[in-house]
Amino acid sequence: MIPETIRRAGLSDIYEKIEAGERLSREDGLRLLSSPDLLALGVLARRVRERLHGRKTYYVLNRHLNYTNVCENRCRFCAYWRPPGDSRAYVLSPEEAVRKLSEGPPPREIHIVGGVHPELPYSYYLELLSAVKEAFPEAHIKAFTCVEIDHLARISGKSVEEVLRELKAAGLSCLPGGGAEVFSPRLRERLFPRKISAERWLEIACTAHRLGIPTNATMLYGHLETPEERVDHLLRLREAQDRTRGFLCFVPLPFQPRNTPLEGEVEPTTGFEDLRLMAVARLLLDNIPHLKAYWVFLGVKLAQLALHFGADDLHGTVIEERISEASGGREAEALSRAEIERLIRAAGFEPVERDAFYRPV
Ligand code: SF4
Repeated sequence: MIPETIRRAGLSDIYEKIEAGERLSREDGLRLLSSPDLLALGVLARRVRERLHGRKTYYVLNRHLNYTNVCENRCRFCAYWRPPGDSRAYVLSPEEAVRKLSEGPPPREIHIVGGVHPELPYSYYLELLSAVKEAFPEAHIKAFTCVEIDHLARISGKSVEEVLRELKAAGLSCLPGGGAEVFSPRLRERLFPRKISAERWLEIACTAHRLGIPTNATMLYGHLETPEERVDHLLRLREAQDRTRGFLCFVPLPFQPRNTPLEGEVEPTTGFEDLRLMAVARLLLDNIPHLKAYWVFLGVKLAQLALHFGADDLHGTVIEERISEASGGREAEALSRAEIERLIRAAGFEPVERDAFYRPV
């Protein structure tokens, strides 16, 4: 029987499709994304989430490392990058990176990303991975967005495949999935013209998948994109996943306008919009197993609520993350294992500590 909440929201046909395990269409996605009935969306997304994961909610003991803030891409939505020579520009040597990561409890997953530095040699990236892997042999290293992989292929003169093989040999386990932004040529031109295209991002992610390197996928939303552009982004990821099955998790990232050139032009997203997008992502991405409530961007309390709107992953303990910090997008420096577990239990779910591949540990 169709729940009253769903019927009242006029979403009975979508409910029936979900119950029958049928794929939702672009039009379904657009209808869901414009629905004002957030609770009905939550009911739908929770059904899918519980079918996939029951009451389990994953988290990982992780550390973030941002090895440089120097970047030649100068994206208009980014508050993090600095030009070479800027007084606040930095690059961590492999030794400094290891030293930083050694402060605090040993991580199970190490998340490494940085700007597109115009001068660092290819050998730096291999040395960074090798040094971190040697210091933390038990940890999985999730490093470099497709944007950085493209850069490494260019500076080394090697193919993406060769670069990925060499990074894997140096200790890489998987890619974090950033840099996708929104797969819209219109927005790329306006906001991040120097960044790789959607086609290149997808090509690199799919190459990684073919080599046995899983990745996440992200979408930066809440700036100048239209509902159609959001849905099309999700559907392109779904199509790619049909071919490779290499995306582990989708991570929606709400745009943080503070300290960016868009501050004043674009308002931060609202909680309503964040939860609605979370639910729609869960419903459209029927082939990507996990959906992350990234508390670093969403805030801890909203991330906890997102568990009722399709999310099954509360990310991790996170220590030292500078990218969202630059745009004032973070309310906590880190969460302890006990805090994360308390948040998950208080929302009625069962915490499961995972590794980078979502295997329980
Ligand atoms: S979003 Fe990434 S690529 Fe763009 S300017 Fe910032 S650090 Fe550079």
